[in-house]
Amino acid sequence: MALRIGIDLGGTKIEAIALDGAREVFRKRIAAPRGDYAATISAITALVREIGEGTVGIGIPGCISPHTGLVKGANSTWLIGKPLKQDLERVLGRPVRVENDANCFALSEATDGAGQGAAVVFGVILGTGVGGGMVVQGRLVTGVNAIAGEWGHNPLPAPTAQDLPLPACYCGRAGCIETYLSGPALSRDHALLTGEHLEAAQVAALQGKSLERYEERLARALASVINVLDPEVIVLGGGMSNVARLYTEVPRLWRRHVFSDHVATRLARPTHGDASGVRGAAWLWDNGERL
Ligand SMILES: [Zn+2]
Repeated sequence: MALRIGIDLGGTKIEAIALDGAREVFRKRIAAPRGDYAATISAITALVREIGEGTVGIGIPGCISPHTGLVKGANSTWLIGKPLKQDLERVLGRPVRVENDANCFALSEATDGAGQGAAVVFGVILGTGVGGGMVVQGRLVTGVNAIAGEWGHNPLPAPTAQDLPLPACYCGRAGCIETYLSGPALSRDHALLTGEHLEAAQVAALQGKSLERYEERLARALASVINVLDPEVIVLGGGMSNVARLYTEVPRLWRRHVFSDHVATRLARPTHGDASGVRGAAWLWDNGERL
C-alpha cells in the first residue's frame, strides 16, 4: 500500500510525516522559511522527496479559494494569492490535496482520534487563532466557499454587558468569537479585568474569574454549533485544549443555550494533540474513500 505523506505548513515550522496504514514511519520538523514563498515550495518539495513515493496532503493556514484556485485567508501572509497547489503539483509531478489546518485537525481526530466512530465530529482550534472543521460520516465537509466550520469569525452569541465593547478583529469585524476565545484573547481579557499581564496558560492556571468568563463564552459559542450541526463529539485542539477544566465546565454551561432538553454531545480532548494537524493532512487521501 502506498505511503500517505502529510505536511503541516505552519507560520513558524513545517512538519512532515508518512503513514503506512495508521503507523507513522517518518517524521521531521523544520523551521518555516518565513516571508519567502519560493523557499516554502522548495522546503516542502525536499521533504516529500526525502520520503519518496506516496500521496501528498498539505494543511495550511487559510485555504485554497474554490473561486480563484489561489490561497486565501492565511495568516502566513506570504502564501496569500499564490497558486500553492498548482506549483507543488508541477514540481512534484503528482496530485496534491491542500486543506485548511483546522479541517486537517478535525479529520485526524475523526479518523483515529477522539471522534473515531462518531457520525458527526466538530473539531475546534483554540490557539493563536480560532478555527473549526467538520467531518460527517468520515468525510471532511469543506463547503462551496471552502469555509465550512469557520466559526471563529461569527459574532459571539448573546453578548452581555461583560462582553462589551466588542473587540475589533483583524478580519475587519468586531466581536468575533476569535477575539474572545483565542489564547491571546484570554490573556487580554485577564489584563482588562485585573491589570495583570500573563500568558493564556498562566491565566488558566489561576482558575479565577477570567477563566470562568472564558468558559461561559466558549459554552455560548459551542451551543450555536450544536444547534446547527448537532455533533456527537466536539474535539478541542490548540493550546487551550490543555486546560482540563474546560471539559467539565463547558458542557455544564452549554445546556442552557442548546435547544434541546438533553445534550448528548461530548466535549473531548484531542487524542493526537499537536500531531493532529499533520496526521489529518496525510489522511486527506483517505477521506472516506478507498485507495
Ligand atoms: Zn474576525
